[in-house]
Amino acid sequence: MSIAIDKQKCIGCGRCRNVCPGSLIKLDSDNRAYIKYPKDCWGCTSCIKECPAYAISFYLGADIGGMGSLVHTEKKGDILSWIIDKPEGETIKIDINQKESNKY
Ligand code: SF4
Ligand code: SF4
Repeated sequence: MSIAIDKQKCIGCGRCRNVCPGSLIKLDSDNRAYIKYPKDCWGCTSCIKECPAYAISFYLGADIGGMGSLVHTEKKGDILSWIIDKPEGETIKIDINQKESNKY
C-alpha cells in the first residue's frame, strides 16, 4: 500500500502531515509534502481525505482489483467523492453522503 503526492498540486498546508497517524509525511524546503518511506504507509486514507488540493492519491493494489488504479477524494458539502482513475484512462466516481455514512 502506498500513496502518491503530486507536488505540483500541493499548496503546503501541512494537513496531511498533521493527520498521518504514523508521521510519515513531511514538508520539504519548498513547503511541499512528501513521503520518505512510502512502503510504511498502511493505507488509512486519512491524508487523502484531508488534502484540500486533491494532491494525494492512493494506489489500489492488485489484491483488491486495482491493478495500478489511483484513487483520490473530493468533497462538496456532505458529499465525499471517491474518484478512481484506471490505468487505461477510465474514471469511476463513487459518492458517499457523509451524513449517512454511519447508517448501517
Ligand atoms: S494513508 Fe494514512 S498511513 Fe498512509 S501516509 Fe496517508 S495518513 Fe499516513
Ligand atoms: S494536505 Fe495536500 S495541499 Fe496540504 S500539504 Fe498535504 S499534499 Fe499539500
